[in-house]
Amino acid sequence: MDGTTTTAAPVLILLGPPGAGKGTQARMLEDKFGLVQLSTGDLLRAAVAAGTDAGKAAKAVMEAGDLVSDEIVIAILRDRLQEDDCAKGVILDGFPRTTVQAEALDTLLADMGQKINAAISLEVQDSEMVTRISGRFTCGSCGEGYHDTFKPTAKDGTCDKCGGTEMKRRADDNAETVAQRLEAYHAQTAPLITYYDEKGALKRLDAMGDIAAIANGLNTIVQAAIA
Ligand code: ADP
Ligand code: ADP
Ligand code: ZN
Repeated sequence: MDGTTTTAAPVLILLGPPGAGKGTQARMLEDKFGLVQLSTGDLLRAAVAAGTDAGKAAKAVMEAGDLVSDEIVIAILRDRLQEDDCAKGVILDGFPRTTVQAEALDTLLADMGQKINAAISLEVQDSEMVTRISGRFTCGSCGEGYHDTFKPTAKDGTCDKCGGTEMKRRADDNAETVAQRLEAYHAQTAPLITYYDEKGALKRLDAMGDIAAIANGLNTIVQAAIA
């Protein structure tokens, strides 16, 4: 500390089942509020692609739709959180997903002199998640997310953001794995809604509407949470 007054950087959590729209909304919040999106799913997929030890351990677990071990995920998140760009403030997308991860995050943030501004629960029906996940694809160049029906590219096969033409679909976005991911969500992640409610940090958002309407609701919540 140098004696000047510093405001702790905002920390927002997007809670919600697979396909709820966490990634889509997190990218919009990044642009709007100058925050950094931290997606443990993206970090794990990068580790798998790079063939690191963590990636090797995570690959089969992710393909089966189960949760990667707390130890691996917490280590990956801790390292990422300590990179310089995170000083702007972060949106956690897909982390924490278990009570052990939530407790580890509390400790990590306390050590860094930071705290959670809000944990925002995107509330979506299971049937809607399946529809959203089964139409999901992303730009291989910039990572922008799309949907066959709900957010198609303006020009077939070409990314609106960067002009990239290599579109990717995730190996785990298939019917069997989605069922397992939903089960993992209900058993292991949904209890975090109560966890954050008891801390007074929970905000609920009906996420059944269209992308723009949800973004509006979210902006209002975030504005108040980081003020
Ligand atoms: P998550 O990160 O929670 O798994 P995504 O943001 O990747 O979810 O969204 C899943 C899919 O649903 C993507 O194809 C995305 O374009 C689409 N999507 C996101 N939000 C909505 C929405 N409100 N209505 C319809 N489709 C949506
Ligand atoms: P989605 O939001 O569609 O479920 P993610 O990209 O967040 O997708 O996660 C994909 C997979 O990565 C999960 O099914 C799980 O195997 C693993 N994963 C991501 N984040 C975590 C986490 N915090 N803890 C454990 N496993 C995780
Ligand atoms: Zn792109």
